[in-house]
Amino acid sequence: MTIKVTNPADGSLAGEAPDMTLAEVKAAVDRTCNAFPMWSRKLARERGELLRRWFELIRDDKRVFAEIMVRENGKCLADAMGEIDYGLGFIEWYAEEARRVYGDTIPTHADNAQVLVMKEPAGPTAAITPWNFPFMMITRKIATALAAGCTMVIKPSELTPLTAYKLLEYARRAGIPEGVFEMVTGNPKEIGEVFTGDARIRKLSFTGSTAVGKLLATACGNDLKKMTLELGGNAPFIVFDDASFEDAVAALVSAKLRNSGQVCISPNRVFVQDGIHDRFVEAVAERVAKIRVDQGLQDAFVVGPLINRAGLDKVAALVEEAKQAGARVVLGGKPHAKGGLFYEPTILADLDDAMTVARTEIFGPVFPIYRFRTEDEVVRRANDSEYGLVAYAFTRDLGRAFRLSKNIEAGMVILNTGSVGTASVPFGGIKHSGYGREGSYYGIEEYVEVRYVLMGGLDK
Ligand code: ADP
Repeated sequence: MTIKVTNPADGSLAGEAPDMTLAEVKAAVDRTCNAFPMWSRKLARERGELLRRWFELIRDDKRVFAEIMVRENGKCLADAMGEIDYGLGFIEWYAEEARRVYGDTIPTHADNAQVLVMKEPAGPTAAITPWNFPFMMITRKIATALAAGCTMVIKPSELTPLTAYKLLEYARRAGIPEGVFEMVTGNPKEIGEVFTGDARIRKLSFTGSTAVGKLLATACGNDLKKMTLELGGNAPFIVFDDASFEDAVAALVSAKLRNSGQVCISPNRVFVQDGIHDRFVEAVAERVAKIRVDQGLQDAFVVGPLINRAGLDKVAALVEEAKQAGARVVLGGKPHAKGGLFYEPTILADLDDAMTVARTEIFGPVFPIYRFRTEDEVVRRANDSEYGLVAYAFTRDLGRAFRLSKNIEAGMVILNTGSVGTASVPFGGIKHSGYGREGSYYGIEEYVEVRYVLMGGLDK
């Protein structure tokens, strides 16, 4: 049995992936668990070398991965290549970090004793990933797990399994063995239940919707599995009168249109201060109007299709509702004349915070622009969300920049730029955006257990 993967740009068949039976999924989990003793005992240097080899093989074949991603996800080549560099960064970083999982010693509290703190791999682990970054979502989980000495079984999104299986193929070529890295695809709910119901799996890392994240967290509660949860967002993007105007416009447009807006850190509520509001809306519209909407297999940056009909319908409904409630459509505002899953890059102004569009993760190429007057007001409005993943702000006032970095409720506060992620920083959220961090040395802490050892009787 296979899962048919559809190209969102034209509805054609992009490829097929295994639709595994429950027995096949369980066998993969067994292999993941059985490989743990061997993998966790390997020298950190050896684990790092295998990751490095995997990194090199992919780096030499980036175009192969990029084209698969364009076909199964719809993002344009430029986005796909950017994602590959970002995703490769995690393999490279953790190949090196494997050797730096340092423990600690603490001055002893007892006579003739020594206190040691060791970092032990958490155990066999599992991960579930979404379709919006088919490459990077996988590399940043598995590279961290493997570096720490954990094995991992991954369930990628059934909408984008082709990139995932290509990653597995290259991992095998690099010498990363069966059991250490396993992949399963099939019925998401059933696979989720196998992962959460197996007491041998000591950790689950999930990126996806808050609804599914909560479901998995509840199930993991049964045997108190560790979790990393990267869930939804509702990112504020705040532009003050004193901002570097052109930089703010450029950063907003590129952060928003990447992946057609289907990104959890996509600016979702753009707050612009009164003094520049009208000029800012015009400048964004002028810039966005120049960007083409098209299928992604070409060199120019284009806004590609949305992932599926449900994604398009959601965006269309949010925009319609906002229009009904009095929003002004500055640009776009409807499905694109190309048909299919293309939606026009859309700018909405004169919005208020009670509209559904202000409270929902849009996941489409829509810029909702809100007006604000004071810093206190905008901080309160920015924080008025169940989510807390990322917040962006543009200001040249240093005191304000520091105040914002403290007062905004988010796992990540990004000032005077629209660029968030890279392997060396801790990515993650608070509130309903989840918990745990990916990337940097914080990321590896999610895959180790701290073990305190008291070595007593040293005088004997
Ligand atoms: P999105 O809205 O981004 O598709 P989802 O949370 O639905 O977010 O999907 C993210 C990942 O979670 C995908 O791999 C999907 O197959 C998986 N998933 C969806 N529902 C479940 C479930 N009930 N149990 C386990 N995994 C699920």
